[in-house]
Amino acid sequence: MHLKSLTLRGFKSFADRSVLSLEPGITAVVGPNGSGKSNISDAVLWVLGERNARNLRGQAMEDVIFSGSSGRKPVSLAEVELVLDNSDGTLPIDYREVSIARRLYRSGESEYLVNGSVARRMDVLDILHDTGLGTGTHSIISQGALDSILQSRPEDRRSLIEEAAGVLKHKQRKERSARK
Ligand code: ATP
Ligand code: MG
Repeated sequence: MHLKSLTLRGFKSFADRSVLSLEPGITAVVGPNGSGKSNISDAVLWVLGERNARNLRGQAMEDVIFSGSSGRKPVSLAEVELVLDNSDGTLPIDYREVSIARRLYRSGESEYLVNGSVARRMDVLDILHDTGLGTGTHSIISQGALDSILQSRPEDRRSLIEEAAGVLKHKQRKERSARK
């Protein structure tokens, strides 16, 4: 599985529809301070279900909606779509390409879409479960968070490695069967 594209519209500094095409391998985003690099990783976190505005470097969820700039009016809708290549079947969904989208209106209304159909946040989390991608995992490490990982206790660091290796699923299954 790999990220294929990220489309932003009205999300933070991305007022206009912007499409980032991604290839397998490493993609680096470079640009001056304040040009929107971190807003891109915020968009990935957000579309995957982040609910805490602070983890998106804001005060309230509404802060993800483009709030205007000199010569540009605020917009009323933020929208992000992430397309994942699932040709290796990593995601438990019978599509070679999986599109996950999220919308938030200034009125507070919001929705998720999976391959164009309205879905619940839970559906998105289920699709990503134990793939290493998603909120609460370490697939996105924010500026400053690296220190806390380096300073963490060995037990905590072990769970990080388990998460990366995708063994949590098996561990949880083992614990469940031991309880029976
Ligand atoms: P650095 O190199 O300093 O880390 P960066 O490229 O990561 O910078 P970001 O933090 O992604 O920069 O972008 C910050 C910019 O995004 C600021 O100019 C800020 O005003 C703008 N911004 C954030 N939220 C919104 C919003 N809701 N509407 C409009 N602009 C926004
Ligand atoms: Mg940044």
